[in-house]
Amino acid sequence: MASVDAGEAVRVGGIGDGRPVLGLDVGGTKIAAGVVDATGHVYGFGTAPSDADSARGVERLFELGRQAVAESGFDVAAIGIGCGGPLDSEKGVLIAPLHLPGWRDVPVAELAAAAFDRPAFLDNDGTAGAAGEHRFGAGRGTHSMVFLTISTGVGGGVVLDGVVQRGRSGNGGELGHVTVDWHGRPCRGCGRRGCLEAYCSGTSIAERAVEAGMEEGITAGDVAQAARAGDELASRVWDETCEALACGLTSIANLFEPEAIVLGGGVVRTGDQLLAPVRAAVAEQMIGPPVSIVAAASGDAVGVVGAAAIAYERVHR
Ligand SMILES: [Zn+2]
Repeated sequence: MASVDAGEAVRVGGIGDGRPVLGLDVGGTKIAAGVVDATGHVYGFGTAPSDADSARGVERLFELGRQAVAESGFDVAAIGIGCGGPLDSEKGVLIAPLHLPGWRDVPVAELAAAAFDRPAFLDNDGTAGAAGEHRFGAGRGTHSMVFLTISTGVGGGVVLDGVVQRGRSGNGGELGHVTVDWHGRPCRGCGRRGCLEAYCSGTSIAERAVEAGMEEGITAGDVAQAARAGDELASRVWDETCEALACGLTSIANLFEPEAIVLGGGVVRTGDQLLAPVRAAVAEQMIGPPVSIVAAASGDAVGVVGAAAIAYERVHR
């Protein structure tokens, strides 16, 4: 079975006794695997390029998982899988992930359960990231928190009153598609206009920089660096990025009244260059009590830690 109830999982070996789980993260450019213990420590972490072909890609993912398990030396109790949507988290099926066009109707949780002979769970990677940061990372100890990952795209997840939110089929929490300008830039991810993702993703930052007159092929990291060095064009693009992010985060903070907004993903590696102006603008604009805006704690393993967290969480749900 793709997913099992808590009783069955306990019979399988018991996640409740703190046995580590395997986290698998399926991204558009890379896949990652690692064994995560009950304190959030990662063992046997490894990555590999994604595969456009789903059968080959799933086999590679499981192979990476087997390597992680072997390297960790642990017997894992369950498997958590994080991937971009749309997906069906209850059935454990990837329906048509936007970032993996060749992957359609892949029953990945069932395949993982069969390959590893352990219960397996699938969730949206944004939801998984939220669960991971809430259980192990920068959102630990909060009742309500929001997680956003800002990299090639912008994903997100929400934990309210200690409960990971999924929506009807597991595709809720698409915080990257919160509108910050309804007449704004076209959004590649969803086809609407003016989404947060259309301004703040690494892809969009680079695109806006080229439109502003910077050289072709520039990356978001280059833009950040040029802005730090005082380049005027880059500074304008970077300021707009921070303003758009603050606008979106203010709406999100007003909506959920979280204690913390945890930001992960490559763009957030710029640290205070992004966080300081965003914190100031959100504090100035928002309605409710102050929200703490912090960088994710899980670093490069954020997807794997998140995938593991959903395995822990769903066994106890
Ligand atoms: Zn969108």
